[in-house]
Amino acid sequence: MPQGISVFDEHLRLCVWNQGFLDILGLPVESALEGTHFSALIRIPASRGEYGSGDVEGHVAKLTAQAEKFEAHSFEHRRPNGHTYLVQNEPLFIDGLLAGFTTSYTDITERRASTEREQLAQKVYSHTPAGIVFTDEAHRILSINPATTEMTGYEPFELLGQTVFGLINLDESQSPEAFQEDVAQRGSWHDELEATRKNGESFPVGIRVNRVDDPKSGQPAHYVWILADITERKQSEERMRHIAQHDALTGLPNRMALHMRLAQLLPEARRHGWKIGMMFLDLDRFKIINDTLGHQVGDELLREVACRLSSVTRETDFVARLGGDEFVIILPGIASPADAALVANKAIIALSTAIEANGHELHTSPSIGISLFPDDGPDADTILKNADTAMYHAKAVGRNNFQFFADEMNRISSERLNIEHKLRHAIARNELALCFQPQFRTGDRAPIGVEALLRWHHPSEGLISPARFIPVAEETGIIVEIGEWVLANACLEMKRWIDAGLKPMRIAVNVSARQLRRRDFAETVANALTTSGLPAELLELEITESSVMENPQEAILILERLGRMGVTLAIDDFGTGYSSLGYLKLFPIDYLKIDRSFVADIEIDLNDRAIAFGTIALAHSLGLKVIAEGVETEDQLELLRTNGCDEVQGYLLSKPLYSAAAFSFLHARCPAE
Ligand code: C2E
Ligand code: CA
Ligand code: CA
Repeated sequence: MPQGISVFDEHLRLCVWNQGFLDILGLPVESALEGTHFSALIRIPASRGEYGSGDVEGHVAKLTAQAEKFEAHSFEHRRPNGHTYLVQNEPLFIDGLLAGFTTSYTDITERRASTEREQLAQKVYSHTPAGIVFTDEAHRILSINPATTEMTGYEPFELLGQTVFGLINLDESQSPEAFQEDVAQRGSWHDELEATRKNGESFPVGIRVNRVDDPKSGQPAHYVWILADITERKQSEERMRHIAQHDALTGLPNRMALHMRLAQLLPEARRHGWKIGMMFLDLDRFKIINDTLGHQVGDELLREVACRLSSVTRETDFVARLGGDEFVIILPGIASPADAALVANKAIIALSTAIEANGHELHTSPSIGISLFPDDGPDADTILKNADTAMYHAKAVGRNNFQFFADEMNRISSERLNIEHKLRHAIARNELALCFQPQFRTGDRAPIGVEALLRWHHPSEGLISPARFIPVAEETGIIVEIGEWVLANACLEMKRWIDAGLKPMRIAVNVSARQLRRRDFAETVANALTTSGLPAELLELEITESSVMENPQEAILILERLGRMGVTLAIDDFGTGYSSLGYLKLFPIDYLKIDRSFVADIEIDLNDRAIAFGTIALAHSLGLKVIAEGVETEDQLELLRTNGCDEVQGYLLSKPLYSAAAFSFLHARCPAE
């Protein structure tokens, strides 16, 4: 017999046994003799620790006591050799009388292992979160696991016998037959497809199919389909994509998304002969708001602008933020440029009402450039660039407006390059000159100073207006060199006039933001004063409102330094920029200069009048004097005088004059005492 057999009598003495008994229990042949007591035999494996560690006699006593009960019982015993035995005890009766017990020992190692394997497989099958579908060779479903039911909503009986292709949706390009062929060939296959739940909803699944061959014929017999619901992963991928393609501040698509959208739109437009409008939008004075009121206010403003822009566009339009205060709107499929103009107008109107941000009431306006595909360029880069150029043009012609791109603009920008090129030689070739516009006390119209204004006489182009070349000079940085020249010559000129018999008076020099930012600016001023011998209090520096508000904290330091030198300081173009009153109080300035745009309309425009008069009152309350520029009429002068404006400058009393004319004009009225 392959099993071990033993019989003990009613006194637990060994009567019958076979070799299997000795082998299975690991008993030496000599230990088993007829009549050997059960406990003596059992002590051998017990002392080897086979019944557990510790007290050997305890184990022996326990097993012996169990045997003495002579009850039928069975248990599994695992030996140190790795084998598991089923031990079955039966009491033995002879003629109805208890005569002992028989024991059989069966090696069930193999049986155990395979049931364990089966149980494990069953557990995996029913507890794995992956859907497992087992099919025949034609992909007809033979079984599904609970996860498949959970994932699809189908109970097993609803699917058995159906093909998997009712559950998952193959790509349109692939028929089930072709697919079957393919998988049969390859043996394994994986992909991500859509599957349909019982409720009709579809969801993304990761799929892996493996062919199971018939061991005898070697032909495909079954397939195992593993399905994983990848909805969450797809969603998080979608979220990542959204983050990568959107601007965190406003939630609008970003530059990357814009380029992707254009890559999609342009070929379509080309095929169908559609026009696409491209609007480039930039907020006027945003930088000043951001710098003076803080980033939080700036952010809030941008969010509101994003909102308003989205509200004036249609669903098919595409609003993106490129960063900073730059927005782009794509208008796909417009019929004519007028459609783009309409949207641009709407955007301007939408931004014309004040925006409330962190308790501040802000006024901003857009400058918009528009280009059209394919009229203004054959590709995305060109139309974007041209919309940008048009936007700069919109800024140049006075902000808060829109401009279509025109080749004209490229002409202008090449003209700028041209100016830049010529400007670099202007000083060396002696093409620059100063003229001087007198300034007057309002009450008695007595001259009290002059403003130096730069003129450029180009040998072939004639007089080039500062409005044309100063911005180029500022952008390119040439202004620093030119500014130094102006400063030095203005000081020299006034000193010469005084030496020639003019009553000492102030000379005002315009200073650009770029000059002010230079660390050596105060030194440059000091140099001009020492070289010319002009007393510091006769020099006035006109600094524009926007250039001091660009970086107010830094401006305070520079202005303080200049103030300590004794130089007079005026804020030029007051009212056109964005002033923070808090800072204005801190600047060590002497004058506010009301911009000529307010003066021009002071008689007719009540707003301008209110600003002009408000500025006068404000300046006086801060202990500053006020000068109004651009005074052209007696009425303007009268209004300014009666409202307390201290000084005036303008064509009414004198145009800018070249040196000799300026000297005789002033000397006639103000000879030295
Ligand atoms: P600004 O500083 O506002 O100078 C006043 C401008 O108004 C001057 O123009 C002057 O000729 C003009 N103006 C004076 N009175 C009247 C008037 O009654 N009616 C009108 N319509 N205009 C009047 P200009 O000389 O063409 O200068 C233009 C701008 O160029 C200046 O504006 C200033 O910003 C800049 N600029 C001129 N010279 C310099 C300079 O040396 N350095 C710097 N950085 N900028 C300068
Ligand atoms: Ca000025
Ligand atoms: Ca001005």
